Amino acid sequence: MAVLCTTGTRPPEQAEHDMLTFDEALARLLAGAPRLNPERVGLLDADGRVLAEDVVAPGPLPAFDHSSMDGYAVRTSDLTGEPPYVLPVRGVSAAGTAPARAPEGAAVRIYTGAPLPLGADAVIMQEDVEALERDGAPHVQLAVRPPPQAHVRRAGDDLAAGALALSSGTRLGPGQLALVAALERSSLVVSRRPLVTVLGTGDELRSPGEPARPGSIVESNGTFVAAAARRVGAIARVAPFVRDDPDSARAAIEGALAGTDVLVTIGGVSVGDKDFVRPALEAAGVSIDFYKVAMKPGKPLTVGRSRRTMVLGLPGNPASASLTFLLFGVPVLRAMQGDPKPLPQRRRMRVEGTLRRKPGRTELARARLEVRDGVEVAVLAANQASGAVTSFASADALVVIDAERGDYAGGETLEVITFADALRA
Ligand code: AMP
Ligand code: MG
Repeated sequence: MAVLCTTGTRPPEQAEHDMLTFDEALARLLAGAPRLNPERVGLLDADGRVLAEDVVAPGPLPAFDHSSMDGYAVRTSDLTGEPPYVLPVRGVSAAGTAPARAPEGAAVRIYTGAPLPLGADAVIMQEDVEALERDGAPHVQLAVRPPPQAHVRRAGDDLAAGALALSSGTRLGPGQLALVAALERSSLVVSRRPLVTVLGTGDELRSPGEPARPGSIVESNGTFVAAAARRVGAIARVAPFVRDDPDSARAAIEGALAGTDVLVTIGGVSVGDKDFVRPALEAAGVSIDFYKVAMKPGKPLTVGRSRRTMVLGLPGNPASASLTFLLFGVPVLRAMQGDPKPLPQRRRMRVEGTLRRKPGRTELARARLEVRDGVEVAVLAANQASGAVTSFASADALVVIDAERGDYAGGETLEVITFADALRA
C-alpha cells in the first residue's frame, strides 16, 4: 500500500488541511479554463465535437405529408355507411414523386415515404385490405373505416419549422449529426479542437521497443493521456521525453508552451530531489495556480497557466497519472470546448470488494462496473498500487472513499465516478 500522508509524515511545506479538496481543485481548474474559438467543419468531422451554434429547423420535418406504410391512400369522407367499403384503385404515389390530386371516391396505391395525394387523409395498410377485381378493374375492400391521419406522417410531426433542433453546447454524436443532415445542413460550427502537448519527464523513460538500458522503463502514461485527450476532441501530440535536469526541462517546457492549449507534464512533481518540474514550469513563465490536492492517489497534481495555455503537472506513477488526467484533464478539455456538462457522472451504487487503508485523505479507488443480479455494482480492483499499469486496462470507475474512513469491507452504497464515455471502446 502506498504511504499515506498522515500524522508525522506530512511534508513540512503544506499540511493536509491546507490543501484543496478534490472538488475545490476541480472547480478552480474549470473556472480558469479559457473558451476556444469556433470553426466550421463538415458534418462527419463534427462527430464528438461540441456545437458552437444553435441549429434551427429551416422548414418542417418531415417536409411534406407522406405515408408510413405500403397500402392505399383514401379520403375518409368517401367511406360512408356501414363497412365493408369497396373502392376502385386509381393511380399510384411512389417515393420520390410529386403528389397528385386524390381522385374522389377511389383509393390510390401508395408506398412508404411517398407523398400523400392531395385530398387524401388516411392510408390503409395493404395487409388490411382485400384486393378484388370488379369489371376488369382493380378494387380494394376495407373491413373497417380508418381514422383520419392513419399511417400518415404529417409535415412537421417530427420538428416544426423554426423549432430549435440542437442548442449550442451539445456534444455531437451520430444521432445529432443525422438530425442536422435531415435539416439540410452539410456543415456545422463547433468549438476548435484543443491542442494538447504531453511532456513525459524522467531519465528512465524509453519508448516501447526501444533497446532497454539498465533501469529504464517503458513510457506508458503519455499514451494514456494522448488517447484519452483525443477521445474528447483534442489534437494530442507526445513530445520527446525530458531528462531529469532543470535546464532541459525549462527549455522543453518553453518550447511546448508555444501553440499549445493544454500542456500536460508527467512525473517530476513530487518532493524528491529530482522533482524539478514545478521550478522549471515557473522558470518558463508558468504561474502555478495550485499544487497538491487532498486525494489519494494523485496528491502532487500541479496546475498552472501561461497566458492562454493551461498547464497540468501530473504525478508520474501510472495509476496516478491516468486518474488525475481523467478527473482533471478530461473535464478541462470539455469545458474549453464549451461543453456545459464537462464533469464525469457521479452515482451512488453498491461497492463490492475490500480495501485496506488508514484514515487521512479522500481515496479514489479504482473499480470496474459490472451488472450482478441485474443491478449495476462497482467492483474494487485488487491492486490499488499507484504504480499499477494494469489498473485502467479494466477499471472504468473510481469509488470515493471518505477521508476519515478506515478499512472497507464491501457491500455498502458509496459515491462512484464513472468514465464509461472517456474509457470504454
Ligand atoms: P515521478 O513522479 O517522476 O517521481 O515518477 C513516479 C514513478 O512513475 C516512477 O516509478 C517513474 O519511473 C514512473 N513514471 C514516470 N513517468 C512515467 C511515464 N511517463 N510512464 C510510465 N511510468 C512513468
Ligand atoms: Mg521522475
